[in-house]
Amino acid sequence: MALLTTEALVLRGFNLGETSKVVVLLTRERGKVRAVARGARGGRPRYQSALEPLSEVRVTLYGRQGADLLRLGQAELLHSAFRAGTRSLDAALFLSGCAEMLDAFSPEGEAEDRVYRLALAVVQAAEKGAHPELLGRYLEAWLLKLNGLYPPLDRCAACGGPLATAGSLSYHRGAHGFVCRGCGPASGPDLPSEARHVLAEIFRRPPDALGEPGPAARAIEPFHRELIAAHLERDLRSPRVIREVAREAAR
Ligand SMILES: [Zn+2]
Repeated sequence: MALLTTEALVLRGFNLGETSKVVVLLTRERGKVRAVARGARGGRPRYQSALEPLSEVRVTLYGRQGADLLRLGQAELLHSAFRAGTRSLDAALFLSGCAEMLDAFSPEGEAEDRVYRLALAVVQAAEKGAHPELLGRYLEAWLLKLNGLYPPLDRCAACGGPLATAGSLSYHRGAHGFVCRGCGPASGPDLPSEARHVLAEIFRRPPDALGEPGPAARAIEPFHRELIAAHLERDLRSPRVIREVAREAAR
């Protein structure tokens, strides 16, 4: 008997033996799970393109409750992210970064409907042509916030006093947040005042209503990277790949 049937986003897959794959899925009902997809590879692959990263699928999963590895039965493709990925190299890199972020931030077996809806909204916005760079910041900001890791933008992390409403913000690693002038000097990175405005928009708007990224949006990246690395105790791979590709392209 099937353990469950649920909607899911494919995060990644790796080969197993000659004809199988292990897929990592962000399911709507059980959070992140791993499942063996038998016959996913070879001459007549059973699932065709349904198991591509960030495809939205309806899957039937078999196995014991709480098992580390389930078995994939049916996988019906509901929505493919393929078209969004063909828009540009930036969009393709964004999608791979998006899958990596979701994977890193989703604990196994814990459903979080808000994360699932966030992921869907971001993939759909990419498809509609929203700018990949801003979408990346959007996804990071919300994943950090939903995990309780986003420092308040209006309160000093050291003394609890209000932060100036204008001007740049100084992040202090030791305090895990922004600090007022009295509690400085801060370790950085700094968040310029225009970047605060972009962040306010990110927390107020849906991902398909963000507009074009300016230099302010770019200033948010090192700050997010700092928060992400502090939480995961490692750097994600994709931002480095994106920087390397950008450097190559600039030659
Ligand atoms: Zn302070």
